[in-house]
Amino acid sequence: MIPLYNEEGNVAELYRELKEVLNREKFSHEILLVNDGSSDRTTQLISDLHGNDPCVTVINFRRNFGQTAAMSAGFDYAQGKVIITMDGDLQNDPADIPLLLAKIAEGYDVVTGWRFARKDPFLNRKLPSMIANKVISTITGVHLHDYGCTLKAFKLKITQNIKLYGEMHRFIPAIASGMGAAIAEVKVNHRARKYGTSKYGISRTVRVILDLVTVKFLLSYANRPLHVFGLIGMISSSTGAFLLVLLAIQRQLYRIPMGDRPMLMMAVLLIFIGVQFVTIGLISEIQVRTYHESQNKPIYYVKNILQRT
Ligand code: UDP
Ligand code: MG
Repeated sequence: MIPLYNEEGNVAELYRELKEVLNREKFSHEILLVNDGSSDRTTQLISDLHGNDPCVTVINFRRNFGQTAAMSAGFDYAQGKVIITMDGDLQNDPADIPLLLAKIAEGYDVVTGWRFARKDPFLNRKLPSMIANKVISTITGVHLHDYGCTLKAFKLKITQNIKLYGEMHRFIPAIASGMGAAIAEVKVNHRARKYGTSKYGISRTVRVILDLVTVKFLLSYANRPLHVFGLIGMISSSTGAFLLVLLAIQRQLYRIPMGDRPMLMMAVLLIFIGVQFVTIGLISEIQVRTYHESQNKPIYYVKNILQRT
């Protein structure tokens, strides 16, 4: 499954390389091309591919919805037992596909590529990415060298249970691991972009960080929001209460006036903030229940059940 946004220079070569590998290895396959509202010749080129090869399925978006949406559509429409995602700009090498599938055959649910010799500019790509990978690994607890690599393989049962928003596609391994999936990483080839331009700049970093906050929250507290909001609220309120008591003691025992002291303001503010946090936590608890119960979403994932039949 490949997201495509204005990749006219790459489509033909991509198809040729893919076919070569897939035919050589005799994989039964479907090539799912998601056209994310391209305004160049990509649309025409892939519809020709579909005309000549029934293995090619094309999904045309009405406008540009972004890579995450494109991949989400791919997951929704893919029919294979294993889904392989890759970039449409030839930076990933289709020759690595058998490597990924071999790992899947070993029993892993998700296999992700590691671009160990990445061919991208250092300062605005590799450096931010190195830092991001460390941060994401530490915070999510799922340690991978390369979260940004699109070349990945998934078992269908994993992708069926994942819904993507924002720029979440890079966090799929972390989300999958939250479901209990077994994850492996393999070194893959990486090539410089020959045709077309990258669709992203350095500004992506900020969005990735914000999405990380969401993912961490969903992974750790999605089913118990009060535990995080309530804790913050209680710390805030009790600090405020403590300061108030301090002020009152000083006022009563030492006759220090408290009306003109900034600490009074601080104490009252902390108590208010605390109450608000606890309230947000309680509202979130209601939302969580609505979310799970209205959609019949369980809060667990069963691997298998052994029982007498
Ligand atoms: N892409 C997409 N929609 C977008 C932006 C990108 O479908 O809005 C596709 C793009 O065509 C490519 C893949 O996502 O196949 C990765 O994009 P790009 O190569 O620009 O990202 P980079 O490799 O620079 O991180
Ligand atoms: Mg690229």
